[in-house]
Amino acid sequence: MSCLFCKIVAGEIPAKRVHEDDDLLAFEDINPQAPLHVLVIPKRHIPTLNEMSAADDALVGQLTRRAAAIAKERGFDGSGYRTVINCNRDAGQTVFHIHLHLLAGRSLGWPPG
Ligand code: AMP
Ligand code: ZN
Repeated sequence: MSCLFCKIVAGEIPAKRVHEDDDLLAFEDINPQAPLHVLVIPKRHIPTLNEMSAADDALVGQLTRRAAAIAKERGFDGSGYRTVINCNRDAGQTVFHIHLHLLAGRSLGWPPG
């Protein structure tokens, strides 16, 4: 197993975990780009958004709704937050285990760079 995020799921690499359930893990990004920067990942290895199928529809919902729940827990539901899934080169994906970025705590520029 060479995947960094699978190793975090397995506990072989430490992470600041903020949520865990049967299907998902959420942890603090090691290089935060905002005061709140959490990654929400499925425990199952899925490389990119391109590999998501209709069978994963519930999982996509879980990822998104968990991000919203964490944002609300941290008090950012009113001020706002951004969720991002980068896919492949042009989006800057560097870890090929799908992850949803949750960013909050500052005004986030649009369009993104
Ligand atoms: P992406 O560019 O969308 O693939 O995002 C990968 C993210 O993973 C980056 O924001 C990194 O800072 C983050 N990251 C890389 N290694 C770790 C790690 N060991 N623990 C937590 N976050 C990490
Ligand atoms: Zn993986």
